[in-house]
Amino acid sequence: MQNVNDIRQLKAISKDIRTDVVNSLASAGSGHLGGSLGLADIFTVLYHRILNHNPQEPNWVLRDRLILSIGHVAPVLYAALASCGYFPKQELLTLRKLGSRLQGHPGRDHGLPGIELSAGSLGQGLSVAVGMALAAKADGAPWRVFSVHGDGELQEGAIWEAAMSASHYNLDNLIAIVDRNYCQIDGRTSSVMEIEPLAQKWEAFGWDVKHCNGNSIEQLVEVMELPATKGKPRVIIAKTLMGQGVASIADDYRWHGKAPSQQEATQFITEINSYYTE
Ligand SMILES: [Mg+2]
Repeated sequence: MQNVNDIRQLKAISKDIRTDVVNSLASAGSGHLGGSLGLADIFTVLYHRILNHNPQEPNWVLRDRLILSIGHVAPVLYAALASCGYFPKQELLTLRKLGSRLQGHPGRDHGLPGIELSAGSLGQGLSVAVGMALAAKADGAPWRVFSVHGDGELQEGAIWEAAMSASHYNLDNLIAIVDRNYCQIDGRTSSVMEIEPLAQKWEAFGWDVKHCNGNSIEQLVEVMELPATKGKPRVIIAKTLMGQGVASIADDYRWHGKAPSQQEATQFITEINSYYTE
């Protein structure tokens, strides 16, 4: 797919993705809004600038793989895939409906193109990403693996087993992105289970650590276009706000797993419009 070079165009895409997330959740009547909104910029930059992929040929063998480890934010993945043309945008309104290909958590057996992993159980995606990156290395293939994680998810022990193996096998074709919004379903990460000092933990596990504002398209492009550090997997700690783009709910963990009513959705879309005109 052609990369979008114009930052303004990327911002316009991220606005559409946020709007589609709100509308699809309002249509479903349930789902995970906060993280989906906070990740809109990361998914825009990945799908429209960074990933080597082809929506017309979703199983192209040389594609970069995007592993969404936090399956509950499926709405942002679906909106990003639709924005690339993997399936018609109208289908986003079937989210969580009986028989829909867009279930509450992504499933590879639902027939939706572009889904690399059935996900939802937290902590598993990094192990899958490590396996894929090892496979690419074994084949001498040029494709990369990107995995997206929550900060609350890093409390899962399996993450750190995978982290250890990624550096052991020198997987410099693996890029993990941590959605560092300091929130999880039941509160602030610092009160549920502190994960700091986070950068030092990844460094101690042998990773190349980068930081950025995960709600800045400019910073995301810059950090994701950095060349790989030979022999080391990379983690990007991307600071975001849960609910970013909708000022009245931003940084409020109570919107982790809640959908807006139709009336709230109308208000939220007004707030998204003003977020982009500020
Ligand atoms: Mg979080």
